[in-house]
Amino acid sequence: MERESMEFDVVIVGGGPAGLSAAIRVKQQAQAADKEISVCVLEKGSEIGAHILSGAVIDPIALAELFPDWKEKGAPLNTPVTDDQFLFLTEKSAFKLPTPPQMHNEGNFVASLGELTRWLGEQAEAL
Ligand SMILES: Cc1cc2nc3c(=O)[nH]c(=O)nc-3n(C[C@H](O)[C@H](O)[C@H](O)COP(=O)(O)OP(=O)(O)OC[C@H]3O[C@@H](n4cnc5c(N)ncnc54)[C@H](O)[C@@H]3O)c2cc1C
Repeated sequence: MERESMEFDVVIVGGGPAGLSAAIRVKQQAQAADKEISVCVLEKGSEIGAHILSGAVIDPIALAELFPDWKEKGAPLNTPVTDDQFLFLTEKSAFKLPTPPQMHNEGNFVASLGELTRWLGEQAEAL
């Protein structure tokens, strides 16, 4: 049986935040070096973002490394965290406790990781 085949320089399996970021970085570095590199991202979901289930509070640190101008580019991180509360829940009431330092969310955003992944997919395609 003859199989159809396509050649790429880089093949990335999985179009989640990690795979798309890798694809974007490879294309950014190829552009910086004035080289043409073909990149293929294989995703098993029906579309990019379809199999991204979670993500509620997102730290934009890695996104800022990838796209320092992510705000101007319209990344879907629109709701900054303004307050953190750490509660101990009992059957009938709740006690407020000091928020542990590693659980503070200043600088983070309440967002959908699926939406952010779809946006990353558009950026990767554009590159
Ligand atoms: C319950 C829960 C809550 C979370 N909450 C947060 C949160 O609030 N904030 C936060 O920042 N992070 C959160 N995370 C973590 C976040 O979801 C992960 O860090 C992030 O999704 C990892 O990205 P990834 O690209 O490595 O993998 P994934 O997001 O798992 O992406 C992998 C992609 O590869 C595809 N794939 C897998 N196998 C194949 C294959 N064989 N062929 C083709 N495609 C394939 C999948 O369909 C998927 O699209 C949470 C995770 C969980 C489970």
